[in-house]
Amino acid sequence: AKASGRNNFQFYTAAMNGAIRDKLALREGLRHAVARGEFHLVYQPQVAMTSGQVTGVEALIRWQHPERGLVSPTEFIPLAEETGLIVPIGEWVLRTACFQNRAWQDAGLPAFNVAVNVSARQFRERTWIEQVDRALDDSGLDPRFLELELTESLIMEDLEKALLSMRTLQAMGVQLSIDDFGTGYSSLSALKRFPISRLKIDQGFVRGIPGDEEDKAIAKAIISLGHELDLKVIAEGVETLQQLAFLRANGCDEIQGYLFSPPVTPAECATLVNARFAV
Ligand code: C2E
Ligand code: CA
Ligand code: CA
Ligand code: CA
Repeated sequence: AKASGRNNFQFYTAAMNGAIRDKLALREGLRHAVARGEFHLVYQPQVAMTSGQVTGVEALIRWQHPERGLVSPTEFIPLAEETGLIVPIGEWVLRTACFQNRAWQDAGLPAFNVAVNVSARQFRERTWIEQVDRALDDSGLDPRFLELELTESLIMEDLEKALLSMRTLQAMGVQLSIDDFGTGYSSLSALKRFPISRLKIDQGFVRGIPGDEEDKAIAKAIISLGHELDLKVIAEGVETLQQLAFLRANGCDEIQGYLFSPPVTPAECATLVNARFAV
């Protein structure tokens, strides 16, 4: 084993160089991806537990890389955050989602929310509020049909400043929700000050239903906490009927997950919103 140590080291160095070169190439590609039209959005329905109807959709970005094919956002969003490229990319997402939702309404579809993920870097931009206002003005989307998904860590980075921005957005009529709830570290005293309308139970907890007692207890606690604070609670990553049954029994308001639909193209989405899911 000792004799091969040197070779192993060389192997790791070569692999590491490869990984770094890979990352640099990806970063370079990311720089031009908006201008080259390589991004598109897919939309995943959010279904009301009471009616089985779609009340909203979450916009999720996809990158069709010319050589690599589809690159996952879990791979390129962190890179976009490191480089600051998330700012123009995020603005493209926001605008595209607003224009798409307005186009659906103009096509005569029943009105529903479009939810957009927001990165800390975007939220901290001086021009952030203006970006949102411009996206709404230019698209003509009624602000109440735009929802912004924030994370606890984004808010807690600078609580007072975040609250100020959140109140401005709320005054504009935009809805706010907390994504991945339960994985961050916001205190309950901070939570009660958030001007939000919804909590999204992190899919990590949903995954443990029905086998994991702790995950079940946490999901249940998040639902009661949300309701005590007059918030709607949505569960994401719902894949099975057992998970659905547990969430229904515990009063969860909305469901998002592969059980009902993966994220789909705008055209597919337009047909899904007229469907009634079996909740
Ligand atoms: P997220 O915001 O928590 O989004 C939910 C992720 O779970 C999405 O992955 C979605 O496709 C996936 N998902 C939905 N239903 C199920 C299910 O039933 N089971 C499982 N296992 N997964 C499910 P996706 O699209 O790969 O996005 C990953 C993450 O990338 C997102 O997590 C979000 O943090 C980030 N992201 C995606 N689009 C954007 C964007 O436009 N802007 C920003 N800033 N981040 C984005
Ligand atoms: Ca999200
Ligand atoms: Ca305006
Ligand atoms: Ca999430």
